[in-house]
Amino acid sequence: DNAKLANSSPGSSARFRESEWDDNVGYFINKKLRVWCRLHNGPWESGQIQTTSGEKASVLLLDGRVVTVPTKDLLPANPDILEGVDDLIELSYLNEPSVLHNLHYRYSQDIVYSKAGPVLVAVNPFKDVQLYGNDFVTAYRQKLLDSPHVYAVADTAYNEMMTGIIPYLKLFEMLAVDLSLRLSSHSDTMTCCLIDSSPLGLMLFYCGESGAGKTETAKIAMQYLAALGGGGGGIESEVLQTSCVLEAFGNAKTARNDNSSRFLAQGERSYHIFYQLCAGATSDLRGRLRLKRACDYSYLSQSDCLEIHDVDDAQNFHKLLGALNTIRICKDDQEHAFEMLAAVLWLGNISFHVIDNENHIEVVNFLFALYFLVHSMSCRKEEMEYVDQHPAPFYCNQFWLIENSSAVSFLSLAVISAAALIGCGTEDLMLALSTHSIHAGKDKVAKRLTLQQAIDTRDSLAKFIYASLFDWLVEKINLSLVMGKQHTGRSISILDIYGFESFKKNSFEQFCINYANERLQQHFNRHLFKLQQEKPLGLISLLDEESHFPKATDLTFATKLKQHLNANQCFKGERGGAFSVRHYAGEVLYDTREFLEKNRDFLNSEIIQLLSSCTRRLPQLFSSMLKQTQKPASSSIKLGIPACHKHSVATKFKGQLFKLMQQLECTTPHFIRCIKPNGKQIPGAFDKDLVLEQLRCCGVLEVVRISRSGYGFLVPENNACQDPLSTSVVILQQFDILPEMYQVGFKKLYFRAGQIAALEDVRKQV
Ligand code: ATP
Ligand code: MG
Repeated sequence: DNAKLANSSPGSSARFRESEWDDNVGYFINKKLRVWCRLHNGPWESGQIQTTSGEKASVLLLDGRVVTVPTKDLLPANPDILEGVDDLIELSYLNEPSVLHNLHYRYSQDIVYSKAGPVLVAVNPFKDVQLYGNDFVTAYRQKLLDSPHVYAVADTAYNEMMTGIIPYLKLFEMLAVDLSLRLSSHSDTMTCCLIDSSPLGLMLFYCGESGAGKTETAKIAMQYLAALGGGGGGIESEVLQTSCVLEAFGNAKTARNDNSSRFLAQGERSYHIFYQLCAGATSDLRGRLRLKRACDYSYLSQSDCLEIHDVDDAQNFHKLLGALNTIRICKDDQEHAFEMLAAVLWLGNISFHVIDNENHIEVVNFLFALYFLVHSMSCRKEEMEYVDQHPAPFYCNQFWLIENSSAVSFLSLAVISAAALIGCGTEDLMLALSTHSIHAGKDKVAKRLTLQQAIDTRDSLAKFIYASLFDWLVEKINLSLVMGKQHTGRSISILDIYGFESFKKNSFEQFCINYANERLQQHFNRHLFKLQQEKPLGLISLLDEESHFPKATDLTFATKLKQHLNANQCFKGERGGAFSVRHYAGEVLYDTREFLEKNRDFLNSEIIQLLSSCTRRLPQLFSSMLKQTQKPASSSIKLGIPACHKHSVATKFKGQLFKLMQQLECTTPHFIRCIKPNGKQIPGAFDKDLVLEQLRCCGVLEVVRISRSGYGFLVPENNACQDPLSTSVVILQQFDILPEMYQVGFKKLYFRAGQIAALEDVRKQV
């Protein structure tokens, strides 16, 4: 039976072959039908079976060659009439080469959108395609076009919202989980920002790996919604401008995507905003921020990548200013935000000097720099160069002279600038970065930090400032969007997250990212397949437990994981403190190194005190925000420094995901799966293996199969029939489908329009 044949799951060619394909080979020969043929496990090629003998067949390939292959390496191809169909479920044969061919065929004609049942598949064109703009908006709005498109999805969501009982108010909300923050290679941490939103109506929902096009697709959907909302200067354009701001502060160039939210290695950048500010600030602003060039800052220069091809940071800074004005972030707030960015950059330039053989340090000041220069010993490169390049009278102006008890010392520009920007005394900053107090009886004694402790303290301060700045900005944007507007609680939300990651080396950040993707995939599965796939791995609880244990190390953590999780099928303890997790998208090997440190993300109490004593508004605000979430630290961790830790990073992350999931559960989701067609970010190239991998792991192939064949299970088991035709008849009877609404064919069942939707509704409720 052809229908059954076609319904065979992609990837299960063995099962398929055994049952039906062998019987049908003759049919394919007689009718001269096309097949897919694989030579020596290579790519699938199109051909026609000429003859068969036993387990072998000779096949005429498109290029005229005739090859002999085992019949197990043949699969049926779809008839020409189905070439490039809009919806994959229309294909008669759903094997992997057929699905891939269909997507590739469309892609080569710049048709980047296809449907896979209820899911929109978007293949990244990596170039401008002529599919957008007002004419297309109108055509989709008026239903003159019905080919798959993100506009069509946005239109459906819009209509669902409009036909809702509560009157629609022009308000879109954006929900984003994004941002992993890395400012230095010493200790990385991850923060997660959730743009809060009130009850959600509908949700456009994106998935795909890094560089697949989630963010771009989200923007295209927003453009459509904005155009429907009138396209004028109302809230629609404000919403569009928010993406400019969020991207500047939340995205970075990575090896996989010039506009991603992470930076890991050589050749990658930190957040766009830093480069934009350095390149685009006016000379007045530069003066106020004591700003230098991007290459003068250690946080920005360490990865050897300051520019992105074809990207003008200065111009983008001006666009950003425009966007900030549009969304009514006032000039004062803008200035405050820039001060914090400059403070972060200057903090990164503060260096330390080891003063004894126990590795204790002092903040490097000018005298040390000069001392090192004179003695030709190594000190911070930039400081050497600075001293080197400028004549003495020049740096006398640049370095401040301050009283330091009895001695007089010169302080480096970095400390002075950072202190001035956050509004504290230079001495206080130096003290907070180089010492911690311990209680000895009633007395408090200041102890010097070691080099690593000082570097960690400096970096955690910088990261805290940046992460708080992002949270603050998101809150400002949301406040500004709803200000003065009545809100009915009906909205369209767009979720754009970072995609699944699997590198050679995977650490805590990848774990968090993949955990988020896993949760979203579960939502997808629950919604489309009614599958409960909870995996109670419990890894985060174990991580937290270990993070609170002062003597724990990455190795004790790895051992703990092995002890507790080895029975779990998704977990495997590996050698050398590593472990692997079988995610829905594949197995990932994680290195436990730095897991505990990154998860703790504490700020030492000196730093918190320093922040609350600052005279500038934002540092004060940040420290009070911290106090609200902070837990009292019972013991000092690792460094022996009194630590004020917030919730652990993983727990905070999990909490935010939980909240997101709750919101997702009350929405009607519209799924868009973004596919990256090649790893080089170039137009035209379609790497079939890469695409197949993505289709497999995100469940698209499964959706296609279930969408088309998934009605059989509506029949109670005791009514189950052996052959598909009888099953179909039972379903028709059971659901009282009127005879005029369908035709039973020899191999297929034909429904009048609308009938499938009725069955689909029942199926979804099961
Ligand atoms: P990440 O997970 O790293 O954030 P992402 O899935 O959000 O990745 P995008 O930033 O949306 O990826 O896309 C990467 C690049 O691909 C874009 O900068 C753009 O050059 C290109 N691109 C994506 N979608 C389109 C499109 N529809 N038309 C043209 N170019 C596109
Ligand atoms: Mg993105």
